Amino acid sequence: MQRAAVAWRQQGRRIGLVPTMGYLHDGHISLVREARKRVGPDGAVVLSLYVNPTQFGPTEDLSRYPRDLPRDFRLCREAGVDVVFLPSDAVMYPGRDQGAYSTYVVEERLSQGMEGVSRPTHFRGVTTVVAKLFNCVLPEVAIFGAKDWQQAAVIRRMTQDLNFPLKIVVSPTRRDTDGVALSSRNKYLNEDERRQATVLIESIRACREAVARRKMPAAQLRELVQQAVALRSSARLDYVEFFHPETLEVATSVARGHQMALAVFVGKTRLIDNGRL
Ligand code: AMP
Repeated sequence: MQRAAVAWRQQGRRIGLVPTMGYLHDGHISLVREARKRVGPDGAVVLSLYVNPTQFGPTEDLSRYPRDLPRDFRLCREAGVDVVFLPSDAVMYPGRDQGAYSTYVVEERLSQGMEGVSRPTHFRGVTTVVAKLFNCVLPEVAIFGAKDWQQAAVIRRMTQDLNFPLKIVVSPTRRDTDGVALSSRNKYLNEDERRQATVLIESIRACREAVARRKMPAAQLRELVQQAVALRSSARLDYVEFFHPETLEVATSVARGHQMALAVFVGKTRLIDNGRL
């Protein structure tokens, strides 16, 4: 991968990277389209496909994360991806099984709240693998989804802090017709759970409406979300936060322009979503 990337750079081909864990959907494909737009018809669009073990907690869904490589390859071909980068664990974490692998990248501020509370080792895995992907693929531009808002903020920060010579682009969340954000994990939901999954977008819409005219205390909005979630028999609220969209600074008084993010268990499946109020 590095040899190819160096050769492309020598030829003046721009490189765009779309990091994914596979089981692709239209959200991923929209990132591919954005990458193509950024690097031009002669550029190289690389989609990395790697279910990164270090970003999963010990009780999470690493072993049963959905996979369908033939389908992913077909979607990549149709979307005009030039290269699918499919690294092995041995390439990404040499010697990890023997305890030899020992270098990680840690962002210490933006990764602390929200997902960082519920999944304490998650962002360490994300920043580490993304830094490694940057070094393997040498992109001029890397595309991330707004669906994972905090992740995008953490990666932007890491890119600045570690002087990675590339541009981070964040592309809007793609949704199903009922408003549910597309996600590989939606595959885990049964029919009834899939219906109840609309509670995330409905909560965002309700909060957006609530702050449309006047500021609201975060506690009051939180209650509104708790009530909405309580109405769904299979849903359980993990967290909901209101914050500044760039600094992620928590807001106690919430107004238009703030960002909100939430995580909800629907059955055993943990879903996240976010939106601008
Ligand atoms: P994943 O394969 O879930 O790790 O996601 C890979 C990339 O796709 C991340 O940058 C995600 O933010 C992005 N992504 C996931 N779901 C969506 C979606 N519904 N719309 C846009 N981007 C998404």
